[in-house]
Amino acid sequence: MPNMSLTKNPMPSQDPVERASNFKEVALGYTKEMALDEAARCLNCKNHPCTQGCPVQISIPEFIKKVAEEDFEGAYEVISKDSSLPAVCGRVCPQENQCEKYCVRGIKGEPVGIGRLERFVADWHNEHAKEAPVKPASNGHKVAVIGSGPSGLTCAGDLAKKGYEVTVFEALHTAGGVLVYGIPEFRLPKSIVQKEVDGLKALGVKVETNTVIGKTVSVDELMSDEFGFEAVFIGSGAGLPSFMNIPGENLKGVYSANEFLTRINLMKAYREGADTPIKHSKAVAVVGGGNVAMDAARCAKRLGAEHVYIVYRRSEAELPARREEVEHAKEEGIEFKLLNNPVEILGGEDRFVNGIKCIRMELGEPDASGRRRPVEVPGSEFVLDVDCVIMAIGTSPNPLIKNTTEGLETNKKGCIVAEEATGKTSKDMVYAGGDAVTGAATVILAMGAGKTAAKAIDEALSK
Ligand code: FAD
Ligand code: SF4
Ligand code: SF4
Repeated sequence: MPNMSLTKNPMPSQDPVERASNFKEVALGYTKEMALDEAARCLNCKNHPCTQGCPVQISIPEFIKKVAEEDFEGAYEVISKDSSLPAVCGRVCPQENQCEKYCVRGIKGEPVGIGRLERFVADWHNEHAKEAPVKPASNGHKVAVIGSGPSGLTCAGDLAKKGYEVTVFEALHTAGGVLVYGIPEFRLPKSIVQKEVDGLKALGVKVETNTVIGKTVSVDELMSDEFGFEAVFIGSGAGLPSFMNIPGENLKGVYSANEFLTRINLMKAYREGADTPIKHSKAVAVVGGGNVAMDAARCAKRLGAEHVYIVYRRSEAELPARREEVEHAKEEGIEFKLLNNPVEILGGEDRFVNGIKCIRMELGEPDASGRRRPVEVPGSEFVLDVDCVIMAIGTSPNPLIKNTTEGLETNKKGCIVAEEATGKTSKDMVYAGGDAVTGAATVILAMGAGKTAAKAIDEALSK
């Protein structure tokens, strides 16, 4: 008999007041009892529309049925056929716009908590699985992967399982891409990402950190006789931050969200004696309304700021961040200054930020994106007292690889042009995927692109 409760089992989480001053994970995960109760809400629909909503088409009712039968390892096997990072996706996938959006239980009530169940299964596996991955026999082919984010890790893992000798080249000193330098510990514990990287190493994947492709060595050199890589996958992401080009952006105390988050998440700047400094501010304005803005705001709060404002030029309905993240941010005391746009960052004689001048906005006709265009309200300027400004208005791919690779085509946004079905670029035996191709997107899409390219590389090299 299915559980006909109209609501999902709530996710146990850390108390908002307590968590606003620590970096520990906010959502604590289902207990076994909660997972069984939630799994019983699935109707095991014959045409399972939920699967269509998952970018990698996980057999959702099949894995949930295994959960209901208490066969958690069986559930993990089902998920692993299509996803290499279930513990990550179960935490950060925008499920409400993907699998759960199509769940029939959502028509009258809340959808099945598919993401929460996926996380439960992955965590259960990580806690209980005893067998370490075994390195397969080499097939003699060498492949280079540039970037160790979800696209690169997935591509490397899929190829290594088939016996390819894979080397991942990573510019930073730690592997994981945005999963380690962008998404904060309180949403995605870094031990989970490290486990994935360790798993790849056990499969024989070499990870060369502190190696900037295009500076240390070029793509063309990797493919030369000296290095001998027969194929290259570029998963270098979209890490170049955008700014608004308003006066005052070069004042002290203005950060890009990427810099701010990297200092905190990757370099642990909040700890005593960390290698990198971070400004402990009294009042912070974060400009933007996406997941990156929410992460930066919640980090600023955890560093002790009394006021943290989200300054966003549209209204609440248009906020691009996940609903859950917006709610978490509100619970932690983040103040939303919606329908406001910065026009100038103000500084004192010492060149430190001491305010941000904003103008009020109202929504006009829909623009090309289909969202209503924000229009300035004349004469409505006001100043917010802040001593730090964080710009979280988007990123694009860094042009370094494009500028140093002969014959690699990019589009006008600087994204590498690659075939969707294979990841093939304009350059022979060079493949690409993830944010480097799509521009800033999601973990699951990057992971899916890494999978697609691994399959295409295998087909090309095993001819
Ligand atoms: P990345 O994860 O960006 O990894 C690229 C890697 O390549 C990096 O490690 C980089 O250092 C390396 N690299 C770049 N250039 C070179 C070079 N020349 N040589 C060597 N290495 C290089 N998505 C979600 O689904 N849910 C979320 O909740 C979510 N939250 C986010 C929060 C933040 C703060 C950010 C920034 C992004 C978030 N995203 C989220 C988006 C998601 O993280 C990305 O879409 C995803 O990580 C892209 O994966 P990728 O493999 O293409 O690139
Ligand atoms: Fe849903 Fe993401 Fe899991 Fe797919 S990978 S089933 S979209 S949570
Ligand atoms: Fe289960 Fe919902 Fe998928 Fe139906 S649509 S199989 S109820 S998760």
